[in-house]
Amino acid sequence: MTYVVTDNCIRCKYMDCVEVCPVDCFYEGENMLVINPNECIDCGVCEPECPAEAIFPDTESGLEAWLELNTKYSAEWPNITVKGEAPADADEMKGVENKLELYFSPNPGSGS
Ligand code: SF4
Ligand code: SF4
Repeated sequence: MTYVVTDNCIRCKYMDCVEVCPVDCFYEGENMLVINPNECIDCGVCEPECPAEAIFPDTESGLEAWLELNTKYSAEWPNITVKGEAPADADEMKGVENKLELYFSPNPGSGS
């Protein structure tokens, strides 16, 4: 089992999650973060910290595609352990639907 980052993180990217993860397993894309499923120790600490409610345990149904996306991009994007600045329009983007189709960027973030 692992936790995964989903849709709601895209263009919200508040990054509260990176500060609490005991094993630093978050990776940064241009406009979302992902978790490395091989490094996550399933502690669950990050889940309630996410203001966008974007983090879920992969034991919930329907998250297979997100598990795949977290696995793929955590291998390509840089590690992030320090909270940066959220996008200026993060609050407006919170809860917007179909973000994966409309806004997902495969580009890496700058990491920290
Ligand atoms: S706290 Fe939530 S919205 Fe912010 S970066 Fe982490 S997963 Fe994304
Ligand atoms: S569940 Fe724990 S180990 Fe996994 S990403 Fe969240 S804080 Fe890190």
